[in-house]
Amino acid sequence: MTDSADIAQREVATRLESVRSRIAAAARRSGRDPDEITLVLASKTQPASALKAAYQAGARDFGENYVQEASIKQRELSDLTIRWHFIGHLQTNKAKTAATMFDLIHSVDSARVAASLGAAKPRLRCLVEVNLAGERSKTGIAPGEVECLIDSSRDSVEVAGLMTIPPVGESRSRFAELRELRDRLAASTGLALSELSIGMTDDFEVAIEEGATIVRVGRAVFGQRIIGQRIR
Ligand SMILES: *Cc1c(COP(=O)(O)O)cnc(C)c1O
Repeated sequence: MTDSADIAQREVATRLESVRSRIAAAARRSGRDPDEITLVLASKTQPASALKAAYQAGARDFGENYVQEASIKQRELSDLTIRWHFIGHLQTNKAKTAATMFDLIHSVDSARVAASLGAAKPRLRCLVEVNLAGERSKTGIAPGEVECLIDSSRDSVEVAGLMTIPPVGESRSRFAELRELRDRLAASTGLALSELSIGMTDDFEVAIEEGATIVRVGRAVFGQRIIGQRIR
């Protein structure tokens, strides 16, 4: 390893350790077991070498936003035992490919996408992405439409829970709102819906206090992203 790669490796390891201890502290102060919480490293725009550095520091779950970018990294890292998460917006025409590449899809927001995923890989684990505030800039479906989507998708994919990205400044109340929606839907559908994928660099501790089972953290581990940078 070159010196600079060595330094980068140590930096990622240090930041990862710090995020892990913050996760554990947030879990303990809300009376939860830290092992209930999966840390997914959001690795969009990061080169395979950065993922490998995090892997060597113990990370196993990585979240990617673009199918094409993920497939390049998966090829480069094929010797590692990684659980791959898809956390970006999924287009129907990419769903078939995505189904074969990822262990958990966080961002199902239409019956068509769910049907395409299930056709390619029956019982693939998925989360429904909910747009709680009706923000036009964000993907996800309206809270009132989630039950209908679950009903039409549950035979083709395994609906394991919900995901959301809250409006800036509303993290805690929106996370609580998602958890309450999950509780109502679990009762009405009879599904466990045990996974809540909430929380990023700026709000993952709040998310854990509000019931997150999965947090998706990028900048706190990899450092600031370069705007517009994208690996193709
Ligand atoms: C980039 C991204 C994250 C991580 O964001 P950070 O602020 O870097 O922690 C989490 N979830 C999704 C869907 C993302 O696109």
